[in-house]
Amino acid sequence: MKKETQVTVVGKVFKPNKNKVLALNTCLEEYFRAVKWYLSFNSTSKTFLHKNGYEKAKQLFNLNTALIQTARDKAVEILKSFNEKKKEGKAKSERPKLNRVSIRFDKRCYSFAKTTNVLTPYWLTLSLNRRTRISLPIKFGGRQQKFIEEALKGEWQFCTVEMVKRDGEWYAHFVLKKEVELIDEPETFIGVDLGEWNVAVAVAVSKYNPSKPLKGQFWSGAKIRYVRGKYSHIRRNLQRKKRLDLVKRIGSKEGMIVNQILHTIAKEVVEYAKQFSKPIIIMERLNGIREEMNSSAKLNRRLHAWSFRKLQQYIEYKANLEGIPVVYVNPKNTSKRCHRCGHVARKVEGREFKCLKCGLVYNRDLNSAINIAHALTRGVGWGSCEPPELPHEAFAVKAGGTGEAPSVRAG
Ligand SMILES: [Zn+2]
Repeated sequence: MKKETQVTVVGKVFKPNKNKVLALNTCLEEYFRAVKWYLSFNSTSKTFLHKNGYEKAKQLFNLNTALIQTARDKAVEILKSFNEKKKEGKAKSERPKLNRVSIRFDKRCYSFAKTTNVLTPYWLTLSLNRRTRISLPIKFGGRQQKFIEEALKGEWQFCTVEMVKRDGEWYAHFVLKKEVELIDEPETFIGVDLGEWNVAVAVAVSKYNPSKPLKGQFWSGAKIRYVRGKYSHIRRNLQRKKRLDLVKRIGSKEGMIVNQILHTIAKEVVEYAKQFSKPIIIMERLNGIREEMNSSAKLNRRLHAWSFRKLQQYIEYKANLEGIPVVYVNPKNTSKRCHRCGHVARKVEGREFKCLKCGLVYNRDLNSAINIAHALTRGVGWGSCEPPELPHEAFAVKAGGTGEAPSVRAG
C-alpha cells in the first residue's frame, strides 16, 4: 500500500533587509484582504469562486496570480472548517472571523536553492506580485536542516511554502511530500495508549498469539510534568509582576522543550514497533483522551490536547517513513474494559485496573494499550477478546494463526 506522507519544515528568515521585510508586510496585508474578500462570497466551491471572483480579484489585489488562487483555496479551507465547527455547535460566531493568515506560495511563485553564500546557504525566492521578487536567507535548526537537505537531494518533493509572521519575525514553513510503501499485511499490532501519567504506553499483540500480549514499554510523563510545573510557576510570577511580554516568550520556550520531548518519545515508540515482525501502530482517535482527564487538569486541557495531537502526528510520520502504517480506533471503553475477559468496569481508579469479573489486576495504561490493539485485532477476526475459559493467562487461543511460533526479532 502506497501512502503520501507529509512533513512541515520550518526555517527562520535570517536578518532580512528592511526593504524585503516591508515588501513581505505589504504582501501579507494584501493577501489578508484577498482571503477576506473570497470569504465574503460564502462559498466552498472553488469553481464558483474562480468563475465569479478571479478576474475581479486580479484588479483588486496587487498579488501574483498564483497567490490569488492560493488565497481562494485558503478561504475555502477556512470556511469548510468553520462550517464543520458550526455543525458541531462549536462556532462562536455566525461567520468565520479572520484574525491572521499566512501567505501560501506554491511552485509557480517560489523557488528554493542552496548557494555558497556565507550568511546561510539556503535562499528562498518569492514572487509577490508582477513587480516584486525577493530573495530571503533562511536558517534551519538541526532536525529541520536534515529534512531540507534530503529534499534538495530529491528524496522529498517540495510542495508549498507558507510564510508566517510571528512576533514580528518571518518564518518559512516548507511542506514536503514523499510517497512511502507501507506494510500490507501486518503481523504485529502495536497498541499505543497516550495519557497524563504515562505519556505513552506501547504493547505488541502478535497475530500468531493474540491472547498473549508481548512486552510493553512505558514512557513516563514525569519529565513533561516537571517542565509544565516549572513554567507555570514562572508564568504566575511574571503575571503578578505584569510582565506579559515575557509570559508569551516563556510560553513558546516551554512549547519548544515539550516538543523536543515529544519528538524523542515518538522516535522511541517507532523503534519499539520496529523490533517486531510487520508492525502496525494503533492509537485512539483523539477526542476520547479528553474525557479521561481528571478535573484538576481542566486548565491545562488545551495544552494537553495540543501535545497529544502533536505526539500522534510525530508517531504517524516517523512510523510511515519506516513503512509502518498507523490507524486510529474508537476510544470507547479502552480504559474501562478488561483486556482478558472483556468485562467493562464502571469506574477505574488509581494506577491499577482491577477486573471484578475475572479478578485480573493489571497496570491501567497497559490494559488500555492492549485494548487499543484488540480494537483492531477484533476487526480482522482474530477474536482475541473472547473470554478465556481459565482465569490464568491463556496460551491456547490461536485464532486465525498458522500455528507458527510468534516471530519476534530480538530488540
Ligand atoms: Zn476480566
